Amino acid sequence: MDLKSSIRTIPNFPKEGIMFRDITSLIETPLAFAYCIDQMREKFESKGVTKIVGIESRGFIFGAALAKDMGLPFVLIRKKGKLPGETVGVDYTLEYGTDTVEIHTNSLTSSDNVLVIDDLIATGGTVLASCQLVEKVGAKVLACAFVINLPDLKGMEKISNYNPFCLVEFEGE
Ligand code: AMP
Repeated sequence: MDLKSSIRTIPNFPKEGIMFRDITSLIETPLAFAYCIDQMREKFESKGVTKIVGIESRGFIFGAALAKDMGLPFVLIRKKGKLPGETVGVDYTLEYGTDTVEIHTNSLTSSDNVLVIDDLIATGGTVLASCQLVEKVGAKVLACAFVINLPDLKGMEKISNYNPFCLVEFEGE
């Protein structure tokens, strides 16, 4: 499966100089979408994962499909103010300013071994904050998985303690 060719690149979105890797073309291709989920399931099915955590918003697409396939609970990490129940948050730094990721206080317990899912890792800031959030509520991060890694931005190095895994890379493109 040539997964890479199912991912569309849109230059200069959302701003000048960004090569936006668009997974809408991937999820509109059933074989490519199924391939992603199959690869992730095969990688993690015997690793003792107890819950899948998806990062807003494209992490929900892959995380939910994987959780359904593996028969595991699916837990949301969302941007500040979106979750209706009692939440815990972690702040993180963006290029300009800060942002906050939140999780429901009772979604994870100290006996959970979590697999964190997002569509893409760039600088790794979002997923690092998400892993810290999982730990803040007492659970363990077993691994993190992405469809796409941008190695030039060294995000996988930033989260090397959390067993990062990806399916495709776009380097210097
Ligand atoms: P970061 O925190 O820098 O690792 O950014 C990761 C988040 O931003 C992911 O949720 C991605 O969906 C999104 N993102 C960052 N860079 C890109 C890109 N070049 N193309 C598509 N999405 C991106």
